[in-house]
Amino acid sequence: MLIKDKKIAIVGGGPGGLTLARLLQMKGADVKVYERDANRNVRVQGATLDLHLESGLRALEEAGLMNAFKANYRPGADRIRVLDEHAKIFYDQHAGESIEAFGEEWFRPEIDRGPLREILLDSLQADTVVWDSHILSLEPIANTWKLVFQNGNIAIADIVIGADGANSKIRPFITPIKPFYSGITALEGNVYDSAKNAPKIHELLKGGKIFAFGDAKTLIVSAKGDGSLAFYTGCKMDATWVKDSGIDFTDNKQVLDWFKNEYAAWDAIWQELFEYDKGYFIPRPLYCMPLDQTWDAKANITMLGDAAHLMPPYAGEGVNMAMLDAVELSEALTTSAYPTIQSAIAHYEKQMCLRFAEVAQETLNNTDWMHSPNGLQIMLDMFNEIPS
Ligand SMILES: Cc1cc2nc3c(=O)[nH]c(=O)nc-3n(C[C@H](O)[C@H](O)[C@H](O)COP(=O)(O)OP(=O)(O)OC[C@H]3O[C@@H](n4cnc5c(N)ncnc54)[C@H](O)[C@@H]3O)c2cc1C
Repeated sequence: MLIKDKKIAIVGGGPGGLTLARLLQMKGADVKVYERDANRNVRVQGATLDLHLESGLRALEEAGLMNAFKANYRPGADRIRVLDEHAKIFYDQHAGESIEAFGEEWFRPEIDRGPLREILLDSLQADTVVWDSHILSLEPIANTWKLVFQNGNIAIADIVIGADGANSKIRPFITPIKPFYSGITALEGNVYDSAKNAPKIHELLKGGKIFAFGDAKTLIVSAKGDGSLAFYTGCKMDATWVKDSGIDFTDNKQVLDWFKNEYAAWDAIWQELFEYDKGYFIPRPLYCMPLDQTWDAKANITMLGDAAHLMPPYAGEGVNMAMLDAVELSEALTTSAYPTIQSAIAHYEKQMCLRFAEVAQETLNNTDWMHSPNGLQIMLDMFNEIPS
C-alpha cells in the first residue's frame, strides 16, 4: 500500500476530515487529525444536514457507520414547508406518515451536525484527534512536512491533507487560486428552546424545515434535535457589507434593527428569530471557488471539502461533497492502482474538480434564482406545486 509506514496528518476535524480518518484507519493507515477546537465537547453550531444517497450516505456505508446513523438521524426533520414573506404556506410536506426509505435516491435523512460529529469521533482509534491544534503554518523538510500550531506544538508528517474548511491554511501550499464572492451574504443565527423563545416560528416549523422567499431574499430555518432552531437569512449585499455596515453582530438589538429594515416587506412574525437575545449571529459572505480550478498535483499534500471547493449552501451539497471526497481520496491512497502517492493524489483531485464544477454550477444557479423576485415561484415549480 502506498501509505504503508507513512504518517498522515489531516488538518481539520469537520465531517470531511473525520470521515477520511475513519476510512484510512479501516485500511490500517497511521492517521492523526489536528483540530483547532479545544475538545470534543465544544458545541457544534449550524443547521441540520440532509445526507444524500450517492455521497454522504455512501461515505457512512463505507465507513461501517450506517447503524449508528440510523440510531441518530431525525425522522421527519427532512419535511419542508415553503412560505412567502407573509408566512403563508404554499407547499407542505407534513401531510402523511414519515417514511424511512434508505436506499431510495429521493430519501435525504437529516442529522444534526453534533451527533454526526460524535458518530465519526466514536469510530476512530483512541487519541486520533489532537484537540486544541490550530495550525498556523507548514514547512517542507526534506520529503516531510513540519506542522506548526498556535499553542507552540509542532508535528511531523509524511502526507498532509487539508480538511480545514473555508479559510484553509493548507490550501495555499497547493494552489494560489482564491474563491470569488457569490453576491449573497447570509446571517446565521439560532434560538435555544424554540418552543419557548420563538413559539410562532416553532409552530410553523413543526420539527422540519422552512424555506421562505420574498423581495428577492431568503430565510431558511431548521429544527434541531436539542429543541433549538437554526436559521440563516440570504440577501444580495456588497462583499464588504459585514465591515461597512458597522453592525456589532454580538448586539442582538442592532441585528434586529437591521432585520426590520432589510426585511421590511416581511411579516413581523419573523422578527421572533431576532428578538431572542441568548443566541449568536454569524454573518457569512458566501464565496465559491472558481468552477474551472485545476492545479498540478503535489507529491505529498492535498485537500478536501470546503478547503478544496467552497461553495454557497443553496444545493445542500457541502457536507455531502466533503464526505464523498473522503471516500474517493481514501480509495486512491489505498489501492494498488497508482505507482506513487503523487499520481494517486492527481487522480483524486482530477475527479474531485470535475465533480465540483458540476455541483457548483447547480449551486450558483440556485443561489441566483432563490434571490430573485421569482424565487418562491421557481421553488414551487420545482416541487410541482404551482399555486392557482
Ligand atoms: C449557512 C450554511 C448552511 C449550510 N447548510 C448545508 C447543508 O444543509 N448541507 C450541506 O451538505 N452543507 C451545508 N453547508 C456547507 C457545509 O457546512 C460545509 O460544506 C461543510 O461543513 C464542509 O465540511 P469540511 O469538513 O470540509 O469543513 P468544516 O465543516 O468547515 O470543518 C473544518 C474543520 O476544520 C477546523 N479548522 C479550521 N481551521 C483550522 C485550523 N487553522 N487548524 C485546525 N483546525 C481548523 C474547524 O474547526 C472544523 O472542525 C452550509 C454552510 C453554511 C455556511
